[in-house]
Amino acid sequence: MTQASNIIGGQEVGASQSLEVFSPSRPDEVVGRIPHSQPKDIEAAVAAAEAAQRPWRNMGLMGRGQLLFSASAIVEAHVDELAELASREMGKPIGEAKGEAQRAAAILRYFGGEGAHAIGEVIPAANPGTLQYTTREPLGVVGIITPWNFPLAIPMWKVAPALLYGNTVVLKPAELSSLTAYRLCALIQGVFAPGVLNLVIGSGGKIGPALVQHPAVRGISFTGSTRVGRDIAHQATERGIKYQLEMGGKNPVIVAEDADLDRAVELTVSGAMRSAGQKCTATSRVIVLGSIHKAFCDALTQRVRQLVVGDPLSANTYVGPVVSAAQQQQVLRFIENARQAGYPVAVGGDRLDRAGYFVRPTIFDAVDPNSELAQEEIFGPVIAMVAASNLDEAVEIANGVRYGLSASVFTQSLKTALRVVNDLEVGMVRVNEETAGVEYQAPFGGVKESSSHSREQGRAAIEFYTETKTVAIRPM
Ligand code: NAD
Repeated sequence: MTQASNIIGGQEVGASQSLEVFSPSRPDEVVGRIPHSQPKDIEAAVAAAEAAQRPWRNMGLMGRGQLLFSASAIVEAHVDELAELASREMGKPIGEAKGEAQRAAAILRYFGGEGAHAIGEVIPAANPGTLQYTTREPLGVVGIITPWNFPLAIPMWKVAPALLYGNTVVLKPAELSSLTAYRLCALIQGVFAPGVLNLVIGSGGKIGPALVQHPAVRGISFTGSTRVGRDIAHQATERGIKYQLEMGGKNPVIVAEDADLDRAVELTVSGAMRSAGQKCTATSRVIVLGSIHKAFCDALTQRVRQLVVGDPLSANTYVGPVVSAAQQQQVLRFIENARQAGYPVAVGGDRLDRAGYFVRPTIFDAVDPNSELAQEEIFGPVIAMVAASNLDEAVEIANGVRYGLSASVFTQSLKTALRVVNDLEVGMVRVNEETAGVEYQAPFGGVKESSSHSREQGRAAIEFYTETKTVAIRPM
């Protein structure tokens, strides 16, 4: 059993109340206990981050980068442990959880390397003797609020650049993945001076606003639902601080008539069903062109029928449980509504007859692109198949949602690929690849209601976590 604490100023501190965490695959099994923190715990963490700010900022980019390499090595050495804990806590199949733990290590390593890269430019000045250049300065104390679906990678893809560029951090992970966040932070926080990386665990509604509204917090990076993200945007705008939001998705795959069907089937299944569909970049709508609709739907259905659904700790499980009873009910409600609307179920459509929050991988065929199933983020293992008679119609359907995170097109025609890449209203588009899986060294983010129009990961991360300072020096 993992006993999680807050980490404030380099110390592990409990809260006055704590909560038990149960496994989503075996709801009777207690995986650990987490603190149920109060706003005063946020205050203590922000104070610690504020006190650590100046020396951390003065350490310099390369020095901070070296420490990220050390943190990466620690995570690398604990991949199996972290993956198992994540899998027990939030139900991600163990193979995927190991990949995510390795990715967390790779992200830290990547940003360690960024510590040796140029961060400004030399700009000509009217007086030729003046040296004019830009440099980057940290925001100060940054609040980071994360969801449960990537309990290792998302905290690290925010924390690593925040720290590299000289900010100190208060991390507030989702309640449903706080054991994993605790273990990750407990492992690496000793690399940094006390107060550089702080962790406060608790309910978002209770301690989230205390973090967003704290006068010493100069930036908020949030990943989660559009509803909470919008609320944070209002509060941050009122305070005049920087914010960054990554939110929902309703990601389409377009399958053209010339697609390699085997590849399109395999990657559509992977995009839709891995992590039980609980990825912001999960494939949720499959738009198939004209004559291949039936053949593709049959092949997809057959492949989905073969998926092993079950214990996330078993190496051959493809689909684990969804994260909670509430999530299971929400997914089943979408399924029930789609049934009531009369869409044919090609496969699945119910829960598994066993303990745990399992939803059978499900495909609905011939779905109206304007229906609830094709418009709302489901966050479960459910595909809506939509027919399109030509590419124009497919693109129009793909764009006809309020989200714009990621999309895929399967085609062997360069012309079709470029046309779709050009016309889709999304932040990330992939040709002959699944909608999920954008690499950590490339910018990540969406358009429309998926994002606040900033980008995370890769070199793009510097834009949020720093301010540009323009310097002109005229030697006397
Ligand atoms: P959520 O919005 O319920 O919670 C996200 C985080 O916000 C949690 O830490 C939560 O405790 C906190 N929170 C809740 N209320 C708050 C408040 N009033 N003030 C401050 N913080 C508050 O989302 P979730 O259920 O954890 O995650 C699922 C959602 O995340 C989905 O919509 C998914 O699409 C989205 N997501 C997006 C991305 C992306 O990169 N675009 C990645 C992963 C998940």
